Amino acid sequence: MTTTYGTLHGKIALVTGGSRGIGAATALRLAREGADVAVTYVSGKEAAEEVVRSVRALGRRAVALRADSAEAAEVADAVRCTAETLGGLDVLVNNAGVGVLGPLEGLSLADVDRVLAVNVRGVFLASQAAAGRMTAGGRIITIGTCMTQRVPGPGGTLYATSKSALVGLTKALARELGVRGITANIVHPGPIDTDLNPAGGPYAPGQAAMTALGRFGTVDEVAGMVAYLAGADYVTGAEFAVDGGHAA
Ligand code: NDP
Repeated sequence: MTTTYGTLHGKIALVTGGSRGIGAATALRLAREGADVAVTYVSGKEAAEEVVRSVRALGRRAVALRADSAEAAEVADAVRCTAETLGGLDVLVNNAGVGVLGPLEGLSLADVDRVLAVNVRGVFLASQAAAGRMTAGGRIITIGTCMTQRVPGPGGTLYATSKSALVGLTKALARELGVRGITANIVHPGPIDTDLNPAGGPYAPGQAAMTALGRFGTVDEVAGMVAYLAGADYVTGAEFAVDGGHAA
């Protein structure tokens, strides 16, 4: 068993949607920095358990919780279970998110409700529940998108609407929680190679071309920014692009 002594030694983190993609990489990165980690998932039980095994192999504690961010009670339960199982909560990473892209006229009411429930209401409720348990040094880090800064083409109305709400939430949280020594920041990834947005997908070349660096980013590149923010004291209410220059 390896013991890690990084900047987050002794901290307890919850990463929503931590079974795959950016969330899984973030959970592992936080563990490498010394944090104990809970991850939520919806259908990816096996993948979430694999993340838990990898975190434990680093010498940290870990737990996988099935919690659909669209369900208010499940979000609150995930926060409570993390705190009760691991002994507190220092870092919340609001990562779980869904993307429904397509022409405005093709988006159903069910699409609107689902995307806003997961991407906005779930983040709001998780932040509210986490803030209720955090003490000074608490960190709320939310995953937005480069599309809050520049929408590169049609089809992004619903997704950009949902993620843009998180910018306002982050700034308001920073103002409200700063007095308690709790920070809130948002990270805007550009195109990142995951199941949600594979670098080999049909729209990938166009997305890569929109960045200054001309390529997709990796999950580890986003996780590195989250880890920095988890350890940063004098940074709050801020937006951080990890987008290869998509917004440049
Ligand atoms: P993936 O689809 O690869 O992974 C999504 C993760 O979220 C999985 O762990 C999944 O769990 C979980 N999840 C999905 N829906 C829910 C839900 N309702 N409740 C709880 N967990 C859920 O996505 P990415 O890693 O690509 O994206 C992560 C975040 O980054 C999202 O918020 C996304 O919008 C954002 N983002 C991604 C970009 C990209 O290019 N990839 C660019 C900009 C932002 P399960 O395994 O159970 O399905």
